[in-house]
Amino acid sequence: MSSNQMKSNVLVTARELCADFVSLFYPNYCLGCTNALYKGEEILCTRCIRELPKTGYTNDPLNPVMLRLAGRLPLKFGLAFLKFRKTGLVQHLLHQLKYNNHPEVGVRLGKLFGKELAESGMKSEIDLIVPVPLHASRKRRRGYNQSAKFAEGLSSALSIPWNESVSSRVVRTSSQTRKSKVDRWENVKDVFAIERPEEINGQRILLVDDVMTTGATLEACGKQLLQAGCVELSVACLAEAQ
Ligand SMILES: [Zn+2]
Repeated sequence: MSSNQMKSNVLVTARELCADFVSLFYPNYCLGCTNALYKGEEILCTRCIRELPKTGYTNDPLNPVMLRLAGRLPLKFGLAFLKFRKTGLVQHLLHQLKYNNHPEVGVRLGKLFGKELAESGMKSEIDLIVPVPLHASRKRRRGYNQSAKFAEGLSSALSIPWNESVSSRVVRTSSQTRKSKVDRWENVKDVFAIERPEEINGQRILLVDDVMTTGATLEACGKQLLQAGCVELSVACLAEAQ
């Protein structure tokens, strides 16, 4: 065996050891359908990725997210990656992300959406990605902010920085799930505070959230960013409730 061959064998073994090490932390089954993942697949299998119900809003300036926030929040663009329904793959993945301690689902979906945004040319219109903050006590209990994980994936695919600490949620709100549109707004309108205005000033920001229903959370948080000096605001949510 030549020394080059030996070197490449050592490299292959090292790479396999790394892969084994990674699989200690990340399960080698799909978090969508529990089927085994093949080499090259990451978190979700190819079939689940193909079956994701994408909204297809990327090139539509009058898409439902934009229309839902029209007159409430001035936006450069508003997007949603997936359609959310009460049952099905997206509901299952969001459950994995929020309640089953699988932050990597958020990162993976962020990367997939980021790739789409990069291809659409939107990358050049954003300076900073900011996730809607969670209240500190809720973040402590969950261990992470699920919207920040989506932001992290977007950031990685778009090569745009993200920052989780520019804004905070100063009031712990009750769940929005059973509230009317008016009550949802009353529930969130005063809960956000800007922590680092110097990092927002002059920036074109993409504000990201997990699920958009009426848009009250995005509106409240987005208004604060604009007041703090954000020059152009866009929003993207992981899923839009239908
Ligand atoms: Zn799958």
